Amino acid sequence: MAQQYTITLLPGDGIGPEIMAVARRVLEVVGQKFDLGFTFQEALVGGAAIDQKGEPLPAETLETCKNSDAVLLAAIGGPQYDTLPRHLRPETGLLALRAGLGLFANLRPAKILPQLLDASSLKREVVEGVDIMVVRELTGGIYFGQPRGVFETETGEKRGVNTMAYTVSEIDRIGRVAFETAQKRSKRLCSVDKANVLEVSQLWRDRITALAVEYPDVELTHMYVDNAAMQLLRWPKQFDTIVTGNLFGDILSDAAAMLTGSIGMLPSASLGSAAPGLYEPVHGSAPDIAGQDKANPLAQVLSAAMMLRYGLSQPTAADCIEQAVLQVLDRNFRTADIMSDNMTLLGCHAMGDAIVDAIRN
Ligand code: NAD
Repeated sequence: MAQQYTITLLPGDGIGPEIMAVARRVLEVVGQKFDLGFTFQEALVGGAAIDQKGEPLPAETLETCKNSDAVLLAAIGGPQYDTLPRHLRPETGLLALRAGLGLFANLRPAKILPQLLDASSLKREVVEGVDIMVVRELTGGIYFGQPRGVFETETGEKRGVNTMAYTVSEIDRIGRVAFETAQKRSKRLCSVDKANVLEVSQLWRDRITALAVEYPDVELTHMYVDNAAMQLLRWPKQFDTIVTGNLFGDILSDAAAMLTGSIGMLPSASLGSAAPGLYEPVHGSAPDIAGQDKANPLAQVLSAAMMLRYGLSQPTAADCIEQAVLQVLDRNFRTADIMSDNMTLLGCHAMGDAIVDAIRN
């Protein structure tokens, strides 16, 4: 009997429904090919939920997500929601979803596809072959540490405060995700910190070093964050898997992503200690092109591949989707955002057809 999975789909806003429709078709076809049975349940999040339910993350959406094996999200947000009070904004729904699912690890690959080498702003010889995975801690560090706020000093001067703090258990759980991720890749892990200045980073480095004993097959190195930023631009090929805290990871994952030059191509995964994980493109809801069949669905499709690999342990099906994306690019099919000379321009739906075709054949 086919392996059965329940997948929650959150199409969200803007181009979300268009790119999600492509990912759903791709999953259905790959399911047929590899004898995987998917039951899809759609739920509302972001602006779509605000419009229909008056709040960005209705309780039933979180419940539906919790009762599934994995959650595939497209994107949320739009200018019409920007003036709402903070607790009613689409982004608040996304943060609440991440918190509600206990997602503490964010995995963001930055892989240069040979067909899109020229999209990078760096020289071809620098970026060719780059294949990096940034594992960012997502629920701790300076974004959540207490105390925080703007206070008045004794002299009446205002003073802004945030606190960078990590407990041993927070470091250990992200460390384990990182070591296990590195094991699924080329077994090299670089931990990025600022241990020459910050005590919290010293503890981070001590714990990651201690964990390494449990993963003798993974080669561990450490790097200060300022050097890591420099090395990412100088010679990114030296990195395989990077693990770092929330703030450093926020910045470095964006820098690593931009090595590829094409935001419509980048997937991500957010994982907790148990299923379901959340899989979503890095890009937003692109309201400027929504409803025009212009969106690039490949980041969404590659997010579905990450879901198969990291959430459902179906690496062969994940490989198949990733290969199909490469084949489609090899056939010179492009959406507008990655279009260049002598290529064939496709809309979102037709790009989906091309991927489905590549998977079938
Ligand atoms: P964006 O990523 O939506 O768009 C930036 C630019 O990239 C736009 O020109 C857009 O057309 C283009 N683009 C993005 N994805 C594309 C795709 N798949 N195909 C082709 N072109 C694509 O970022 P933004 O404009 O800063 O934000 C728009 C809305 O999205 C905002 O409401 C923002 O809050 C929200 N947002 C949501 C998420 C998320 O859902 N995780 C992430 C970032 C931004």
